[in-house]
Amino acid sequence: MFVVYCAVCERRTLLGVDEVDWVENLTRGMISVSGRCPQGHDVVVLTGDAFTPHEDPRYFGPAPRVWTKPVARLRGWLRGRFELSRDLPGPFYRF
Ligand SMILES: [Zn+2]
Repeated sequence: MFVVYCAVCERRTLLGVDEVDWVENLTRGMISVSGRCPQGHDVVVLTGDAFTPHEDPRYFGPAPRVWTKPVARLRGWLRGRFELSRDLPGPFYRF
């Protein structure tokens, strides 16, 4: 099934496999599927590998442990210091 948009009806409809008139390979990774909306208007949907979302090539995966280990150690060190500094000495308590 394909979701197609009919410009005449100005709505999206489902195009069943049995309602497909033509399937054509336009170029590598680009397929044109032609059919008719329920009102009989011609609709075309472009599909194929060129329209399939792929993983972002700019994402290189999680940061290597060589980078994260010192940051985790620093975070633990700061957490320890922060916990200690929350205990105020007696003279600072007013009530
Ligand atoms: Zn239509």
